[in-house]
Amino acid sequence: MGDLSEKIEQLRELLVGGGVKRAVIIPHISPDGDAIGSCGALSLMMDKLGIHNQIIICDHVPDYLQFLPKAKSVISNRTEPELCESYMMAADALFMMDHNNPDREGELQPLTEAFMGKKVMIDHHLEPSPVDITISDSGSPATCMLLFQVIKSIWGKEAITPDMANALYAGISTDTGNFNHAASDPELYRTVADLLEQGLNRDYVYSNIYQVASLDKLKLTGSVILNDLRIHPDYPVAIIPITLQELEQYNYKEGDLEGVVNIPLSIAAVKVSVMITERKDKVKLSMRSKGDIPVNLWCEKYFNGGGHKNASGGKMEIPFAEVVELVYGTVEEFFEGIR
Ligand code: 5GP
Ligand code: MN
Repeated sequence: MGDLSEKIEQLRELLVGGGVKRAVIIPHISPDGDAIGSCGALSLMMDKLGIHNQIIICDHVPDYLQFLPKAKSVISNRTEPELCESYMMAADALFMMDHNNPDREGELQPLTEAFMGKKVMIDHHLEPSPVDITISDSGSPATCMLLFQVIKSIWGKEAITPDMANALYAGISTDTGNFNHAASDPELYRTVADLLEQGLNRDYVYSNIYQVASLDKLKLTGSVILNDLRIHPDYPVAIIPITLQELEQYNYKEGDLEGVVNIPLSIAAVKVSVMITERKDKVKLSMRSKGDIPVNLWCEKYFNGGGHKNASGGKMEIPFAEVVELVYGTVEEFFEGIR
């Protein structure tokens, strides 16, 4: 935490010294539990400090995350662009949560790049693009865990309220696949213990994330595993191409494919899982890997994306069939490149 302690001290000075009266907090596009959890917890902390703050987002908070603290008061640039802009104009600090680059902020990117106040990043992705205060730890399993450490070192863990604990735990749980990957750091469990002591309602968070599926979601999962999943003949790669038509057949709602890309990793012979999803305006890729296979490199090189070593993604604006072909066509080069 050497370099990190210095950055955290800078953040303390910024927030405690009265330098920030109004802040905006921004998650990444297509936000997940870690993005909304970290934004919500930070927003609650700022409320305690008397700092006026607003979470703004380029798209929207998916239904399955609406139970999280502050989720319902998030303002979207899709529906209220003028309001978003006025919050940005009035703010003296901007917080980028759970992303390493403004290019993960969709249509908000031009606004944040033109922003004149202080920029703070709290994130755990590789290769952050530096801002005024870059609090980045790619070794951390979740931004929510990093944020917990930040709050603890500035204000002490006693500052964490039960709502903040719920938000932070949601991010930690979702980013580790409920403690199944990137989950070997003892500090992770100390953090959870601290959150429980601060009033975390683990059962509430668990049931709101993992026990709220629709029948359509389950049927879609069954259908893609039965009908779409293929194993590459020469490489330990599972590929799941999912068409828009299939999504519509099961009344797809955002979040309905959450976790599906992990399922093929349960096969002994599979080391990498690639899910390719056709959307109206683009094709989305999700990759997961076991052990030392850096799928972020594959996503960066061919699929306009990136992420973590074992969990990455990308997006393409070419026809679906061509993306599927590109995955097959680049498998060999990817595996040769990492040997
Ligand atoms: P998911 O597969 O859950 O959509 O994304 C897994 C991880 O990959 C995310 O946490 C994020 O770090 C990264 N990721 C997903 N999509 C993109 C993308 O389009 N661009 C970049 N740079 N990273 C992505
Ligand atoms: Mn994250």
